[in-house]
Amino acid sequence: MGKPANTALTFRTLTDAYGRSIDYARISVTSRCNLRCVYCMREEHQRHHSPAGELTTEEIFRCVEALAGSGVRKVRFTGGEPLIRKDIVDLVRYAKAVDGIETVSLTTNGVLLDRCFEDLLGAGLDGINLSLDTFDPDRYRNITRRNLLHKVSENLDRLLRYAGSLKVKINVLLLREINSSEIGRFTELTRHDRVTVRFMELMPFDDNQIWRTGKFMGAEKILEALTTIYPELEAREGKTTEHFSFSLPGYKGSVAIIPAYTRNFCSTCNRLRITADGKIISCLYSGDGVELLPALRGGAEREVLTSLLQKAVSKKPEDGREAGRGARGTSMSEIGG
Ligand code: SAM
Ligand code: SF4
Repeated sequence: MGKPANTALTFRTLTDAYGRSIDYARISVTSRCNLRCVYCMREEHQRHHSPAGELTTEEIFRCVEALAGSGVRKVRFTGGEPLIRKDIVDLVRYAKAVDGIETVSLTTNGVLLDRCFEDLLGAGLDGINLSLDTFDPDRYRNITRRNLLHKVSENLDRLLRYAGSLKVKINVLLLREINSSEIGRFTELTRHDRVTVRFMELMPFDDNQIWRTGKFMGAEKILEALTTIYPELEAREGKTTEHFSFSLPGYKGSVAIIPAYTRNFCSTCNRLRITADGKIISCLYSGDGVELLPALRGGAEREVLTSLLQKAVSKKPEDGREAGRGARGTSMSEIGG
C-alpha cells in the first residue's frame, strides 16, 4: 500500500446550492452480501452483481483522497457487507492516513467480524455500527434468510468489550409484531456498556419484500413502546449526533430512534454516497448520480475527480423527499446504507 498522496493538497469545501457543507461520505465497497435481509435484498440478489463491477482497492483509495481534498472529514465504509472484501483492513488503514480524514467507521452485519476485528482496530478504525434485529435464532433466520445468529452474537460480545474506546452502535430495524417485543432486550445492552442502540424505521425500496405487509413501525410507536417499558426514559439534548436520543438513569449507553421514513432531515444533511460501482449519489431519495468510475478507470487526475464530486453536490436537491417523489432505489445495499 502506497502512502496517501494528498499531503500537499489545498483543502476545499463541498458546499451545495443551499449552503449545506458536505463533510461526510458513505462509501459502499460492495453490493454483495452474506445475508439476505427481507427488507433489503431478494434471495437472488448476487446473481446480478460481480466483483468485477466494484471499485478496486486503488480506486477506493483515490476516491478517499479526492473526498478529503474536497472537504470530507468523515468516511463510513458500508455495502452490501463491507467485511466480505478481503482488503477492508487496508481500506480503513489507508483512509485513516489520508490528510483531512478525521474519522473512519464501518457498518456491518457482524457475521465476519471475528476474522478481522483486531486488524481493524490496529488500522485505526474509529467506530462500528453492527446491525442486528433479533436475539431469537428462528426470527433471525426468517429476517436474514440465513442461520448465522450464533456468529453475530459472539461478535457482538467481542465488540462490546471495546465499547468506549471504539464508538459502538447497534442498528435494530424494528418491525411490528416481528421483533418489536425485543425493544427491552436491546435497550438492556446500554445498561453496562457505552453503546448506542438505534431503533430504526423501515424504508421502502423496490427489493424490500416486507414493505407492503403492514409491519412498518413508526418513531411514535417505537417511543411509546420504549416509554411503556422505561417510564424514566430521558431525552438527551445537545449531547449527541443522533436526532432523537435518550438515556436511562444509571445506564452507561444511550438509545436513539431513527425516523428515516416519517421525518425529513434534508435541511441539515451533510452527506454524500459513493456506490459500489462508482457513482456519486448526493441524495438518498434521488437516483440522479454522477458517474465516477469512467474517470477513475481512465486514470483521471485528482482535479477531475474533485470536479465530479462538486458536480454531484451541486445537484443535491433542497428537499430530497419532495424532489424524488415516487422514485426509490432498488435496495439500501445498492446505495450504501
Ligand atoms: N450489511 C451491512 C449491515 O447490514 O449493517 C451494511 C449495509 S446495510 C444496507 C446498512 C443498514 O441499512 C443496516 O443497518 C440495515 O438494517 C439498513 N437497511 C437496509 N434496508 C433497509 C430498509 N429497507 N429500511 C431501513 N433500513 C434499511
Ligand atoms: Fe446484507 Fe446489510 Fe442488506 Fe442485510 S441489510 S441484506 S446484511 S446489506
